[in-house]
Amino acid sequence: MTAPELPSSDATAPAAQPVGRATGLIHHAYEPPGGFGSVQPGVFKASTVFFHDTAALKAREWKDKSGYTYGLHGTPTTFTLEERLATLEGGRQCLLAPSGLSALTLVAQSLLKAGDEVLLPDNVYAPNRDFTRVELAHWGITHRVYDPMDPASLAGLINERTRLLWLEAPGSVTLEFPDLQALLAVARQHPRLVVALDNTWGAGLAFNPFELGVSGPNGAAGVDISVHALTKYPSGGGDVLMGSVVTRDAALHLQLKLTHMRLGLGVGANDAEALLRGLPSLALRYAAHDRATRAVAQWLSARSEFAQVLHPALPESPGHAAWAQVATQAGGLVSVVFDHRRFAADRVDAFVDALRLFRIGYSWGGPVSLVMPYSLRGMRQFGPLAGRGNDTLVRFAIGLEEVDDLLADLEQALKVMG
Ligand SMILES: *Cc1c(COP(=O)(O)O)cnc(C)c1O
Repeated sequence: MTAPELPSSDATAPAAQPVGRATGLIHHAYEPPGGFGSVQPGVFKASTVFFHDTAALKAREWKDKSGYTYGLHGTPTTFTLEERLATLEGGRQCLLAPSGLSALTLVAQSLLKAGDEVLLPDNVYAPNRDFTRVELAHWGITHRVYDPMDPASLAGLINERTRLLWLEAPGSVTLEFPDLQALLAVARQHPRLVVALDNTWGAGLAFNPFELGVSGPNGAAGVDISVHALTKYPSGGGDVLMGSVVTRDAALHLQLKLTHMRLGLGVGANDAEALLRGLPSLALRYAAHDRATRAVAQWLSARSEFAQVLHPALPESPGHAAWAQVATQAGGLVSVVFDHRRFAADRVDAFVDALRLFRIGYSWGGPVSLVMPYSLRGMRQFGPLAGRGNDTLVRFAIGLEEVDDLLADLEQALKVMG
């Protein structure tokens, strides 16, 4: 039996020599031709990446995407996804992390050192607050919480130790929409302060975080960093966990990228491929979530059971004017508040349990509508909800079902409450 020959025309392979069959399965001869055109890019899986010779090894540069060195430093699949996400969010560079939360913590770990202080909005994504309160405190990094609905209160908290400011618009449970331009204007009085936005709700579609009309360093007109839990709308399936960190400034990106490398954050190629498959329909899905959620929010506001309906496009919802100033879409979340004097927590639970199409579960952005009850006790330090500690909030994440079916489900479940 003749042994297979390695191809001599392959510029990246060593010189041809006869090998055994098992070796031939490993050093296989077929190389795909260039110029294969298809809708979806190929999936490249790698830890090891070959170098043609030692000169190539020494010359290889991965930081600017001009070459590949190791799977953790990127593959054609992850570089493609990074490029598309930077485009989506209006940025120039992107890093991928294994979850939205790890993308948030990467930013803090890269920018903060012992003695620094970070400012969090009262409505910050709770696990980001827990990370800050526990892990960052272990490392000698302090934090303070500001009222996102009161930009003047933010100004009073910034001092020479303040290094990082988190923004979130709206809060992902209570859905109050801060005046991003006013908060940014305060932050830009302090050139050392890096401004990072958790942009999961807006998904790069509701508004452009880098074009908010407030000038900053390096010609930026918005935030310095946009973090996105791709787990939500970009995945769209409720089945992939990933996060991204998008920037417009090359030096800031490099600082984050070096930390990213030293922390060993990597994402799986199949997950990256699932996201690449979701991105072309992202805008259509987001618009569908937006449309359906506005209809549900309108319907909820016409009911008598709720003390409050929270949704940025409702004129009576906190921050509506600030939302209207920067955003065109309103996302897929709507929350209601039950007054405990009318509906104690166990009756709210009965309502949630009676829902059939809405499933009980965390997260959002997928096809299935989700519901989650939250006690308001201790949830807020500032604003009207801070005084509603005995009340229950229920958040709905509107999926892609037909709106009439969702409304019928809500109606039958409300009957259970009497
Ligand atoms: C879900 C979420 C995250 C975290 O994403 P994971 O992928 O679940 O870690 C961060 N911020 C917001 C606002 C989120 O909703």
